[in-house]
Amino acid sequence: MKIHEYQGKEILRKFGVTVPRGIPCLSVAEAVKAAEILGGSVWVVKAQIHAGGRGKGGGVKVAKSLEQVKEYATQILGMQLITHQTSPAGQKVRRLLIEEGADIKQELYVSMVTDRISQRVVLMASSEGGMDIEEVAHSHPELIHQIAIDPSIGLTDAEADMISTKIGVPAGSIADARVQLQGLYKAYWETDASLAEINPLIVTGSGKVIALDAKFNFDANALFRQPEIVAYRDLDEEDPAEIEASKFDLAYISLDGNIGCLVNGAGLAMATMDTIKLFGGEPANFLDVGGGATAEKVTEAFKIMLRNPGLKAILVNIFGGIMKCDVIAEGVITASRAVSLQVPLVVRMKGTNEDLGKKMLAESGLPIIAADTMEEAAKKVVAAANGQ
Ligand code: ADP
Ligand code: MG
Repeated sequence: MKIHEYQGKEILRKFGVTVPRGIPCLSVAEAVKAAEILGGSVWVVKAQIHAGGRGKGGGVKVAKSLEQVKEYATQILGMQLITHQTSPAGQKVRRLLIEEGADIKQELYVSMVTDRISQRVVLMASSEGGMDIEEVAHSHPELIHQIAIDPSIGLTDAEADMISTKIGVPAGSIADARVQLQGLYKAYWETDASLAEINPLIVTGSGKVIALDAKFNFDANALFRQPEIVAYRDLDEEDPAEIEASKFDLAYISLDGNIGCLVNGAGLAMATMDTIKLFGGEPANFLDVGGGATAEKVTEAFKIMLRNPGLKAILVNIFGGIMKCDVIAEGVITASRAVSLQVPLVVRMKGTNEDLGKKMLAESGLPIIAADTMEEAAKKVVAAANGQ
């Protein structure tokens, strides 16, 4: 689960990380009011969407007067903000954060992630803050420093200071940076985050260390014990198809292709998408209907896939283990009728009661294309999507 920058900064503040004073707003009038409340002479008008790269896309503007705050807020609110992390159509800006302008001397990068290999939280840091970190990782990997944190001790003073020195924090600001890094680690740990990134972490003209941006992702499997984090969820920022799917306990992710996939089991779903791609097709989604794929669930899954106007064909790939093939066949037949399916449907099923399932599909009178192997299924669905 993702949250907005202003929410990430609320979390950071709770854990002792220094963030600029700022006020989230939903209208231009609120934005101007916020700037007045904050006072000072420089404000930053920041689009709040669940994607980074906003600055480059025109979603972060420095205002030097209240008139400019008004002008930028008017520009940014409601715009389709396109960044390298949004879809090509961009994301509509519904919220702003009005923040006091900071006096930036240095822009650094710090983040926490869980490293599955060392099974530890890793602090990553770089002197090259403010920019696209993937680009730095690509062109100057030597400028990215890492440290795996021992969970029984946490981020030690010595570790924090060593990293700060490596990324060029001046000697006089090392103690301040330590507070920020240890606060970031605690915030990550306590909220069950899967990513906590401050880009940029800045050193100001007077040597203060401040988090100027905040990006968090949270482990969806831990949300049951993080009600405060769940309260931050903003459904406006999420894919409507994925929200609908989550209501029916379907693991669904929208993709760019035109072949809908309905599969039981995440591993088989991944393999199905790979096979489609291998034969020149593009999956429209990842969908794992899980172990208990009832007719109702299959129907909902069909409906969700059919929301996509670009959908050209559907591949159902089921392994009948605990779930029997005849039950799936019944689900597919009921669902196809319920949604009066207009796109070609390829079905491959294997496992328990396979023959019965296939017989039911064949006798249903529906124009279902049967396939026996993964290869055959993928080839047939790719051909069907191409109108062949
Ligand atoms: P994004 O990463 O989505 O582009 P950031 O919050 O990192 O958004 O903002 C982009 C850039 O705008 C920062 O690298 C920084 O240079 C500048 N900026 C952001 N917030 C402030 C602020 N409060 N004061 C001064 N400059 C800021
Ligand atoms: Mg940033």
